[in-house]
Amino acid sequence: MANNLSRSAKTKVIHAGFLLADPDIQPKSEQSILIEGERIKAVSDGFIDPPPGGELVDLRKKFVLPGLIDCHVHLTAQLDQGYRLRTVEDSDPKAALNAAHNAAVTLSAGFTTVRDVGARNPDVIFALRAAIAERKVAGPRILCVGAVLSPTGGHGQIYGFRHDVCACVQSRSGVCDGVDECRRAVRRQVSHGADAIKFVATGGVLSDIKAGLDQQFTDDEIRSIIETAHRLGRRAAAHAHGAAGINAALEAGVDSIEHESFLDDRSLELFIAKGAFHVPTIIAGVTVLDMAQGAGLLTSAQIEKAMIVGVKIKEALARSHKAGVTIAFGTDMGVGPHGQNAREFGFMVEAGMRSSEAIKAATVNAAKLLDLSDEVGTIASAKSADVIAVDSSPLDDVSVLQRVAFVMARGDVYLGVT
Ligand SMILES: [Zn+2]
Repeated sequence: MANNLSRSAKTKVIHAGFLLADPDIQPKSEQSILIEGERIKAVSDGFIDPPPGGELVDLRKKFVLPGLIDCHVHLTAQLDQGYRLRTVEDSDPKAALNAAHNAAVTLSAGFTTVRDVGARNPDVIFALRAAIAERKVAGPRILCVGAVLSPTGGHGQIYGFRHDVCACVQSRSGVCDGVDECRRAVRRQVSHGADAIKFVATGGVLSDIKAGLDQQFTDDEIRSIIETAHRLGRRAAAHAHGAAGINAALEAGVDSIEHESFLDDRSLELFIAKGAFHVPTIIAGVTVLDMAQGAGLLTSAQIEKAMIVGVKIKEALARSHKAGVTIAFGTDMGVGPHGQNAREFGFMVEAGMRSSEAIKAATVNAAKLLDLSDEVGTIASAKSADVIAVDSSPLDDVSVLQRVAFVMARGDVYLGVT
């Protein structure tokens, strides 16, 4: 990781051996990208010389593409042997430093934008978002939801400790019951600085409670959350496994369904009719399935759910992709290890997507879901200079994205040539 956190006003020219400027268009050989400050100024054929005083970034032996976008991460979390203890041991400053480390690792893996969809202490993720934007610490551009909205007893709460300990460590600002409280909870997250709203339409694998994977908020509560989010100009994302919860959220106009393990035919119709995005997070399912079969990390309540979701989550992507649903890339990292986000591409290809479609999900489609299409997702004039490079074409073998050789974010080089 280059220690390059100050804003570079210097003009740069990248010479790209191959450039996939837009995943909808074939890559071109021998391209130049002119960058002024944090913006792309122009993309042109051939290798042009940098202007006097400008800097040349030589990627003539590389395959260059837009910075990747992950629509579903939890930078403040990391599921591993120590996570249960850390929940009650770590101070918020310690959690923030851990999150900053996770952000740096994510950036050096080629992900220049992420959406954080739930932090136990929302202040930590809001602070990290600001520190990265101000270039005080290295990390991807962050959009975040603050606290996850969950009903009492729902998937968004902490379980498994004395209830007074749970009450002490969990984010209470996201717990809401009834239409009015749900409306207020959305408004509260927005007032704290949330870029989007995330709620649990159904149970989830990692909540340590035998409450299943079906719908949790009522239809009324789901409508209240989505309508209020939209009224305040925010996208609404639903964590959902069971079909009833998926369909209630889609009926109410949700912008994305995260996970979506048990979708049914009605879900597919609704996705197409409403234009909602599916954020698959297969790697999260695979990770919890591995953990459920391994020793000691998950509790019996979690194992029961992990064994089903781990299998269903990939089948769900295969079905929704075949039906023509728009897919946006997401990994749920924090469940899996931060920095391994690109492993998701391989699972997407196994589920039937072409490499180019998987890359589109992590660039153009993700930018659309995040309302950032003017800023990121393609390499084009006036966009943010978020550029990565790998040694060979990811269109031939998508696994090369797990070995990113160069990362530029907002015009600054963080990995590779400096
Ligand atoms: Zn998640």
